[in-house]
Amino acid sequence: MLTYSSIDSIEKQFSILAPSPLQKVEAGWTTFVDQNGIAHQIEVWCKRDDLLHKVISGNKWRKLAKPLQDFRQNPPSHILSFGGPYSNHLHALGYYCKQLNIKFTAVIRGAYLKDQTFNRTLQDLHNWNTNLVFVDKQTYQKRTDKNYLAKLQKEMNADIIIPEGGSQQDALWGMQTMIDEIIQANIGEPFTSILLPVGSGASMAGVVENCPPELAKQIIGIGSLQGEGYLETLVNQFLNKDTPYLSWHINHDFHFGGYAKSTAELDTFCKQFNQQQAKLDTPNKSKLDKSKLDTPLCIEPVYSGKCFFALKTLIQQGYFVPNSKVLVIHTGGLQGAR
Ligand SMILES: *Cc1c(COP(=O)(O)O)cnc(C)c1O
Repeated sequence: MLTYSSIDSIEKQFSILAPSPLQKVEAGWTTFVDQNGIAHQIEVWCKRDDLLHKVISGNKWRKLAKPLQDFRQNPPSHILSFGGPYSNHLHALGYYCKQLNIKFTAVIRGAYLKDQTFNRTLQDLHNWNTNLVFVDKQTYQKRTDKNYLAKLQKEMNADIIIPEGGSQQDALWGMQTMIDEIIQANIGEPFTSILLPVGSGASMAGVVENCPPELAKQIIGIGSLQGEGYLETLVNQFLNKDTPYLSWHINHDFHFGGYAKSTAELDTFCKQFNQQQAKLDTPNKSKLDKSKLDTPLCIEPVYSGKCFFALKTLIQQGYFVPNSKVLVIHTGGLQGAR
């Protein structure tokens, strides 16, 4: 168990691997053939935020970094948050609270889950002494309602409520640190596009808000759920409408039926990709980061798989012009795939 430290940063206490590695991706599908039959290789890079921490997954660490840093001044004794039964966010926060001996209440969507065998996410939370509160859909829908939250906070005697997914204005700060790391890695010409999966939109907003034109020409979110229009609204709520950001949009062609939905095609794609990556020679990987690059890239169908599948499809459709250089942000999330 850890205790709050006023000396060490929270990154140091939790042994966060920051900067996370930035590596070049080798895959069998990074080439497209134009009308003249000429093959063009698209340069693909990946920001390995999946390696930030062994339990606290990728963007969930980034999104929580600011509030957790702030807690050092005034440690809460009871945190409450919301999520679905496979939530990477609840899993990350549950682990954090366990390590610092903070009481944690997780309000979980699905009243029926109470009487079922726990999946591995819920089992971990249970083992970490999380107070699991299962609620039905209607109750869960009130998770952003101010009156409901005030009542819940009082009833549960929680010091602080963190919204679902850790998605709040504060979350953008952590995404800035990620952008700063990419800038520091200094890999030359700007990226043609940066791709990342979109759920609640806070991670995308953080990238849009902090990405300078020297780093990328545009940001493409890959919707991991059905939500044309809705996902854009979610991203926009975190942004300032008068600021001239880089060009960004969300592609809605790769949700595969909805949140956590998959198809045989997507499953196979992920499986084959993971097998190929596991076989690649370690010394062949990027020279940019010395740390942890022996961990092969691994994707899952909920977020990263949809993002890489989108990339493959866009490359093959000729969406990226010759000599493009594309960066995918691996937001983590491998725990949910267990
Ligand atoms: C939560 C999550 C996302 C979605 O991030 P948002 O900020 O909610 O859009 C993407 N990838 C992984 C692995 C996640 O756990």
